[in-house]
Amino acid sequence: MKLSDIQAIDGNDPLAGKKPLFELPEQTIYLDGNSLGPLTKAAKARAKAVVEQQWGEDLITSWNKHQWIDLPQRIGTKIGALIGAAEGQVICADSISINLFKLIATALSLNPKRSIVLAQKDSFPTDLYVAQGLTELLGQHRCELKLVSDEQLTDAIDEDVALVMLNHVNYKSGEIYPMEELTALAHEQGALTLWDIAHSAGAMKVELDRCKVDLAVGCSYKYLNGGPGAPAFVYVARRHQNKVEQPLSGWMGHASPFAFSGEYQGAEGVNRYLSGTPGILSMATLDAALSAFDGVNMLGVRQKSLGLSSVFLILMDKLGLEQEFELLSPQEHELRGSQLAFAHPDAYAICQALIARGVIGDFRAPDVLRFGFTPLYLSFEEIWHAVHILADIINTKAYTAEAFQTPQKVT
Ligand SMILES: *Cc1c(COP(=O)(O)O)cnc(C)c1O
Repeated sequence: MKLSDIQAIDGNDPLAGKKPLFELPEQTIYLDGNSLGPLTKAAKARAKAVVEQQWGEDLITSWNKHQWIDLPQRIGTKIGALIGAAEGQVICADSISINLFKLIATALSLNPKRSIVLAQKDSFPTDLYVAQGLTELLGQHRCELKLVSDEQLTDAIDEDVALVMLNHVNYKSGEIYPMEELTALAHEQGALTLWDIAHSAGAMKVELDRCKVDLAVGCSYKYLNGGPGAPAFVYVARRHQNKVEQPLSGWMGHASPFAFSGEYQGAEGVNRYLSGTPGILSMATLDAALSAFDGVNMLGVRQKSLGLSSVFLILMDKLGLEQEFELLSPQEHELRGSQLAFAHPDAYAICQALIARGVIGDFRAPDVLRFGFTPLYLSFEEIWHAVHILADIINTKAYTAEAFQTPQKVT
C-alpha cells in the first residue's frame, strides 16, 4: 500500500468536503475525537455571537429573543435524528452521570417489583458509580447492582432483573454490543434496557426506536463535537413517558416553571428529564457544531470509519508493528466500533512521544493506547502518516526519553 494509493482513496471520499468545517491546528493528526471532538467553525462563530451579542447586548431578553429556552428540545431533535429516535424522545441536559441517575431511577419505578440492575463489569466507571450511589440512597431492596462479564451477560438476563444497563461500545476496546438482540432478550424476561451510547452517537448508525430500546444516554463532546463538557442527552421511549417522575425534579422539568408553584408537577414527555437551568454557552456551541452532520448519511460515516481503522491495521502490519502491540479491539467489522486499542507496557510514554510528534491519541490505564477514527475530518493520508510516525517512535525507541515518562493529571 503506497502513499499514492492512499491519496487515491481520499480523492474518492464523499465526506472529504466536511474537513474544512473544522478548525484543526496545522501539523496535527487528531486521533482523539472519540474523547473530545474538535472545534468547528460554526461553533466558534456561535460562541462569539452568543457571548457578544446575545448575552452582551440582549441580556435576559435572549431567553425569548434568541430562543435559549428551547435549546434543550431543539438539540434533542437534532441528536435524535442521528440516533434513530423519532421526535419528542430526546432532550439535551446535564451530563451522562446525572442523566444515568434520572434514568436508573426511572427504570426502577417503571419496574417496581424488581431491584436488580445488571451491568457489564467493564462498563465506563461512572455508570457503575452512579448505580452504586443509588443503591446507597435507596437500599439494596430497591437497587442492587449486579456485575457480569461479557460471557455471563446473556445468561444473567433473567426474570429477577429490573434493568439491563449496557455500554453500546466499550470505551476501551471499542467492541460493539448487539443492541437489538440484547434489548429483545431483556424484554423477554420483563426487564428494561438503558443503553449508554457515548461511543456510538455520531460515530455509527444507531437505531434506538427500531431496536425498541427503553432508555438511553449519551454525551455530546465526543463524536458530536459539542465542546469540552458540553451537555449530554437523554432518550426516553415514548411508551415510557408520563408514567413516573424522575427524582432530580427541578424547575426546568416542571409542567409550568414560570408559574413558580410550590408543588412539583412534571412536564409532559421527555421535557420532564430537565432539572436546572441549561448552560447556554455550551448548548449553543453544541447546537452549531451539529450542523457538521447536515446531509450526512450515518452509513457512509460508518463505512469510512471502518476504512480508516482497517488502513491503520494494514499499515501496522506492513511496518512490522503488529508484534509490538496487542490489539484489544475486535478484528471483525461488525464488532469493531470507531476506535482501535492496543496494549503495550510503555503505552503511556508512547502516547506522549506521539503527541510530541503531532499525533494525538490517548492513554487509558493501565497500559492501553487508544486511537479514535472520526470520518468527518480525518483523511486516509493522515492515517498513513500517523502509522509511519508510530513506527519511527518504536524503532528509534524515542518514547524511552525521560520527558515522556511522568503521567499528568488528565491522561
Ligand atoms: C465518556 C463517557 C461517559 C462520561 O460521562 P460524563 O458524565 O459525561 O462525564 C460516560 N459513559 C461512557 C460510556 C463514556 O464513554
